[in-house]
Amino acid sequence: MSGSQTVTTKRWIARDHFWDDYPPAFSAKLRGRIRKRDSFLCQRCRKSGWIVHHIDYDKSNTRFWNLVTLCKVCHGMTNWRRAYWNTAFDLLIQWKRNNKRR
Ligand SMILES: [Zn+2]
Repeated sequence: MSGSQTVTTKRWIARDHFWDDYPPAFSAKLRGRIRKRDSFLCQRCRKSGWIVHHIDYDKSNTRFWNLVTLCKVCHGMTNWRRAYWNTAFDLLIQWKRNNKRR
């Protein structure tokens, strides 16, 4: 079983250009749901995006509201000034969540 797990992880890396191992809960299906929620748009620049980013940088935190769709350019920016992005996306997601409830 561990062998097939490794193959799956490698496939993710190939498709989404991830360089780290992600937990099985962070599946293609989950990422698909996040992209759909965000209308396949980067939530920072509103261009089309496909990278699902962890807002709190914790890859094991796969809650719906910890994930946000970004384009490659914006995702590259999130690797620095982490505290800033953390706050910015947190606010964005809170706003989204509140609007959905109304
Ligand atoms: Zn972007």
